[in-house]
Amino acid sequence: MTFASLGLIEPLLRALDGLDYKTPTPVQAQAIPAVLKGRDLLAAAQTGTGKTAGFALPLLQKLLQEGPQVAANSIRALVLVPTRELAEQVHASFRAYGQHLPLRTAVAYGGVSINPQMMKLRKGVDVLVATPGRLLDLYRQNALKFSQLQALVLDEADRMLDLGFARELDEVFAALPKRRQTLLFSATFSEAIRQMAKGLLRDPLSIEVAPRNTAAKTVKQWLVTVDKKRKAELFLHLLQANHWRQALVFAKTRKGVEELLGLLQRDGIAADSIHGDKPQPARLRALQRFKAGEVDFLVATDVAARGLDIEEMPLVVNFDLPIVAEDYVHRIGRTGRAGATGQALSLVCADEVQLLAAIETLIGQTIQRREEDGFEPEHRVPQTAPGGQVLKKPKKPKQPKVAEGKPGKIHLGELLADKPQVKAVRKAPGFAKAPGNAKPPASKKRPSSR
Ligand code: AMP
Repeated sequence: MTFASLGLIEPLLRALDGLDYKTPTPVQAQAIPAVLKGRDLLAAAQTGTGKTAGFALPLLQKLLQEGPQVAANSIRALVLVPTRELAEQVHASFRAYGQHLPLRTAVAYGGVSINPQMMKLRKGVDVLVATPGRLLDLYRQNALKFSQLQALVLDEADRMLDLGFARELDEVFAALPKRRQTLLFSATFSEAIRQMAKGLLRDPLSIEVAPRNTAAKTVKQWLVTVDKKRKAELFLHLLQANHWRQALVFAKTRKGVEELLGLLQRDGIAADSIHGDKPQPARLRALQRFKAGEVDFLVATDVAARGLDIEEMPLVVNFDLPIVAEDYVHRIGRTGRAGATGQALSLVCADEVQLLAAIETLIGQTIQRREEDGFEPEHRVPQTAPGGQVLKKPKKPKQPKVAEGKPGKIHLGELLADKPQVKAVRKAPGFAKAPGNAKPPASKKRPSSR
């Protein structure tokens, strides 16, 4: 299958060629023709599946072919996203895909001055990518009119609800024209999401590219049990012993992030951090430095868990397990993207056993467990199993059923040392390059770096 066969026009095909996209991914193959026909969409698609192009390409084409010239302070398509980082990223994708089209795009999020965003909107823009809070600010200050709106995209709708945007979203929905095309993307489907979809979508086409609530298949997951007070020591030990060269590391609190960052920097390791206490420019800078390879370790709270596209990330470490089980899926989705294989390691202490049980229930598998010599926990982590059970006594000699590989005590080095930690080759059926047209990618980076 080719992008041309999906009905995309020449300027879009030219942009895709420049980005070295040869074959549509499954979500693109399903979404593009449906959106071009004007259908509403309800899509269960994780980041890393190519979903952004799945909605951006057909919307750009429709905006070019249908509807009026955009009026002052008006927008014709609105893309709502949960975080500022994702807003930047999705906007960069629209710009890259629409580079040969005479359409105007803008991005708006909080934490930065509103005035430049107002100025940009004055002439009207065809596509606005925004977070819900700042969008409402702009609307309330009359910087924005919705009368020309043709299409609404809710990207990572589950995350928007998790972040407490339900009220803002309702206010936005009430202000939008009823006649419009609506596309809803979510990685997980709670009752609240289903209700939202029911109220917003008309006869939607349902697309499901990865089974619901499952972790990306290309990610090798395991955990090491350890006492809470020895987590940092274990982390530094594993880093040295396994020659980790690059990783995204998640900690539960902002304080935890800064402490771990301090330890890494004390050891002369190039690292930076992202969390909600940092001003937006500093967060973006940390992300850019990580993407550019200027720092090798990025330590983050869950603010960074969703949507960030960091190509060829070899390793995600959950220094702490997330409180919300769905965040586990999103965190580990930062590796194994676009078909590259990745590894996700969690350091788990006895206090976290309920969180672990909830995660295993959500992903429907028991995460392979290890102990590291010299770090065997004094407070043992009870055995867990999908279904939320915490098994009091580990069954002996039977080992727990594991997702992949052999259970039992294996040196982490065995797992990690055999893999190159950086520059995993991107290779996946959904992203196959055309044979005989082996042009190297114009850039290793995603559109945002263009
Ligand atoms: P997304 O899930 O939209 O965040 O996209 C994940 C990554 O895949 C991004 O780096 C995209 O640039 C890349 N990508 C999306 N579609 C394709 C495609 N058809 N071929 C190659 N790369 C793609």
